[in-house]
Amino acid sequence: MSKAYADREIWFFTGSQELYGPETLEQVAQQSQEVAATLDAADGVPAKIVWKPVLKDSASIRRAMLDANADDNVLGVITWMHTFSPAKMWIAGLDALRKPLLHLHTQANVELPWDSIDFDFMNLNQAAHGDREYAYIAARLGVSRTTVVGHVSNPVVQRRVATWIRGAAGWAATHELKLARFGDNMRNVAVTEGDKTEAELRFGVSVNTWGVNDLVAAVDAVAESDIDALVAEYEELYDVVPELRRGADRHESLRYAARQEIALETFLTSVGAMAFTTNFEDLGDLRQLPGLAVQRLMSKGYGFGAEGDWKTAVLVRAAKVMGAGLPGGASLMEDYTYDLTPGEEVILGAHMLEICPSLTTAKPRVEIHPLGIGGKEDPVRMVFDADSIEGAVVVSLADMRDRFRMTANVVDIVPPTAPLPNLPVARAVWKPRPSFDVSAEAWLTAGGAHHTVLSTAAGVEAFEVFADIARVELLVIDENTTRRGFADQVRWNAAYHRLAQGL
Ligand code: MN
Repeated sequence: MSKAYADREIWFFTGSQELYGPETLEQVAQQSQEVAATLDAADGVPAKIVWKPVLKDSASIRRAMLDANADDNVLGVITWMHTFSPAKMWIAGLDALRKPLLHLHTQANVELPWDSIDFDFMNLNQAAHGDREYAYIAARLGVSRTTVVGHVSNPVVQRRVATWIRGAAGWAATHELKLARFGDNMRNVAVTEGDKTEAELRFGVSVNTWGVNDLVAAVDAVAESDIDALVAEYEELYDVVPELRRGADRHESLRYAARQEIALETFLTSVGAMAFTTNFEDLGDLRQLPGLAVQRLMSKGYGFGAEGDWKTAVLVRAAKVMGAGLPGGASLMEDYTYDLTPGEEVILGAHMLEICPSLTTAKPRVEIHPLGIGGKEDPVRMVFDADSIEGAVVVSLADMRDRFRMTANVVDIVPPTAPLPNLPVARAVWKPRPSFDVSAEAWLTAGGAHHTVLSTAAGVEAFEVFADIARVELLVIDENTTRRGFADQVRWNAAYHRLAQGL
C-alpha cells in the first residue's frame, strides 16, 4: 500500500550513552534500524520512518531536535531508549523540540530468551527502565507526547503509530493552511465567531477575508471551453437530472455551477488557500449560492465552512489530511433535525447544499431546486445518502473566550429509516454514542457548535492526537460517556485549561 504522506518523514531517534562501548552500541544501532524498518514497512503507516544515528550525549540530542524543527518535511519524531540513556541528556533537546513527539516503548525481542539470557543481554535490552528514566524527564518538563507501548510487529502498535502520524499530519496541515473567507459571518450568529489571531498561534492557520466581488470577477473570467469540459465531467461522474443536461431548458444553471467551481478553484489557488468560507447573506453579484462547486472542492481536499464558519473549515481541512488514503471521507455537517421515536432516535444531518460526496460510494444525483434562503437563482447541488459506517465522528470547534474547545461525538451512520424522496440535499443519518439523549445532553452541556466536520475516514483517535499536539481542549462523547462523568469533566477541564495557560 502506498503511503498517504509519501513525501513526509518521521525521524526515529534511539537513545543510549557512551558507557556501553562500541560493540554494544553497534548492536543498538543495528537493532534500532530493524525496529524503524519494521514500522516503515508496516501496513498503513502513512509516512516514511527515517532512522537516525543513535544519540549518546546532550549536544547531539539537542542538535537532532533542532534539525527536526527546521525541516518542513518532518511531521514528527519518535524516541525510544533501547538502553539506558541518562535523561538529563534529553533536557535541552526536549525543551527545544517543536514537532509532535511519540514515545515508543518497545524492545528488540518479543520473547525473553529464558534459557540463554545472560547479563550481556540485560545490558543491551533495558528499555523497560531506560524508557522510564526518559519518560520521567519528559513528564517533568511537561512535554506533550503520545506514548505507545508494545513490540513493533504487533498490529495494534503499528495502528497506533499510524494514527499518531495522521494526527501529526493534521497539525502540519493546519500550520500550512491559508483560509480565504468570502464575506463575513452570518449576521448575529454566535458560535461561528472566534479569535482569528489566537487561531493562527494555536493551529497555525492564517484566516483572511476577500470581498465577494473578487470572486465575482473570477467567475466572469472563466472561459466557456473550460465550462464545456467540466460539464462533460459532471455528466460522466454523476446522474445529472434531465432538465440540467445539455440541450435541456435549465442547462445554463449547471454551466453556471461549473463556472463557479472553476472560478473558486482558480481564486483559491492564486492566494494559496486550501480552505474557504461563503455566506448566503453576502453573495454580491453571484447568481447562485455555490452548492455543487463547494461540494466538488471539498471532495478535492479543500476545507469549507458555511455562513462564514472558518473554524469548521479548518476542521474539515484537518480531517481531509488526517483521513488521506483511508476509505470514507469528511464533510461540513450540521445537526439538522431528529427522529425522536423512543429507542430508535436518529439525527438527520445535512446542510442547505454543501455536503461532500466523499461520504458516499454511490453515484450522486445532480439536481436543481429552489432555495428559500438568500434570494438568488435556484442552485445546483449533489444529492445522496452518506454510506452507513460504524465509528464515524462529528467534531466541532468553539471559541470559549479564553481558549478553543473541540467537542467530538463518536457516531454510527445508518441508512435512513425510509427513503427521502422530497429532501433536495445530501444527508447523513446517524445514531450517536452512547445514546441519543446522553449524547445530545453532553453536547449541549459542552456548548458544542451546530456545525461540525463529519469524518468517516479519520477517526476520533486522530482528532485526539491532533488536539493533544495543539494543546487544545477536546471533550469526547462516546460509548463510555455518562451524564455525571461528562459534567464533571467539563468543570475540571475549565480549571485545568485556565491553569495550563499560565499567567
Ligand atoms: Mn449552517
